[in-house]
Amino acid sequence: MTTKQSAYSTLGSSIDASITMSVTALANQLKKEGKSVISMSAGEPDFDTPDYIKSAAIEAIQNGKTKYTAAAGLPELKSAICEKFKADQHLDFTPDQIVVSCGAKHTIFNILMATINPGDEVIIPTPYWVSYPDQVALLGGTPVFVHTSDESQFKITPEQLKSAITDRTKMVILNSPSNPTGMVYTRDELQALADVIVANDIWVLSDEIYEKLVYAQEHVSIAQLGSEIAEKTLLVNGHSKAFSMTGWRIGYCAVPSSLATVMSRIQSHTTSNPVSFSQWGAIAALTTPLDAVYEMRDAFQRRRDLLVDGLNAIDGIRCIKPEGAFYAFPNISELLGRSTAAGPIKDSVAFCQQLLQDQLIAAVPGSGFGADDYIRLSYATSDDAIKQALDRLQTFVKGLN
Ligand code: PLP
Repeated sequence: MTTKQSAYSTLGSSIDASITMSVTALANQLKKEGKSVISMSAGEPDFDTPDYIKSAAIEAIQNGKTKYTAAAGLPELKSAICEKFKADQHLDFTPDQIVVSCGAKHTIFNILMATINPGDEVIIPTPYWVSYPDQVALLGGTPVFVHTSDESQFKITPEQLKSAITDRTKMVILNSPSNPTGMVYTRDELQALADVIVANDIWVLSDEIYEKLVYAQEHVSIAQLGSEIAEKTLLVNGHSKAFSMTGWRIGYCAVPSSLATVMSRIQSHTTSNPVSFSQWGAIAALTTPLDAVYEMRDAFQRRRDLLVDGLNAIDGIRCIKPEGAFYAFPNISELLGRSTAAGPIKDSVAFCQQLLQDQLIAAVPGSGFGADDYIRLSYATSDDAIKQALDRLQTFVKGLN
């Protein structure tokens, strides 16, 4: 008897679909069926892409800029990115250190592909952005989780980082402002983590895609804290969140030029370049004053206050105030173990399923982010939708036995 080979790779078939994308797809399906779903699951701004960005891309199409570009991105875009880093973060990079990819998700995958060998460990603080562990695992790396909670403001300490480091540690991933918690590290907190990173000679992948969406405090990049940590930092950013350009697929990084060369080669064999006219739109985004971005940020700040104050007024829910991004990450642990007519709510997945079924609110279970005591609610939606969602959530919680 011959043993039949599996049709699919072991690593490939071990990966689940992104939970945020799955919940959003289910909510959209219910909407199509005519149900009045309040969607608080999506990871994207509800604003349109600013007109000047659209016009630049349309003009690029009309002018025939519709062919392959250099794999790592247009020289004009790489220069604009260097200027952005200089102006916003006082960081000096040269274009040979910049790689533009098809969204920051792709940027992160390219970085991991260029740095991780099977068995290498990557330290990932929880709650984490959903794709980090799966991307590491897809490449044969081992995610090593360091746990935080709302009681520690979702921040890892230098002691926690130090004790997670082993001989196999290649990298730690930091994400500030954070998806899903909205946590923002201060300069001092980053300095303390930077000291551990430099002393142990590991990479830090610093995902700063929500850099422009910070409320009361300044955004600090860990790369700003001196030349030693700058050399260990793989700095990731992108256009999706700040410019409401999720569908355009533009992400980028600043890394040592030797790593940029490896990433560029990988990209040349996988996607080739990011979309040509998206890159021209991305240049317009970086070279125009940021009024539209700050307008969005101010709206998010108002909605954050509305949502978080409302959540904390519901018995059994507590929520720390996010300082950036557009997500609230309320703790629902007091409600787990209670039940609806459909049965007991044993975890965050059951909570979100029941919430969608009973009250038509789409939220993402915390388990997708490695934190089952929480749910993620995006406040990138209208004030009215937030008010209605709070009413429905109050009704849902009151109805629990
Ligand atoms: N990093 C974080 C923390 C995110 O929340 C996201 C999107 O949700 C990404 C990276 C990827 O963004 P994109 O691939 O749209 O640039």
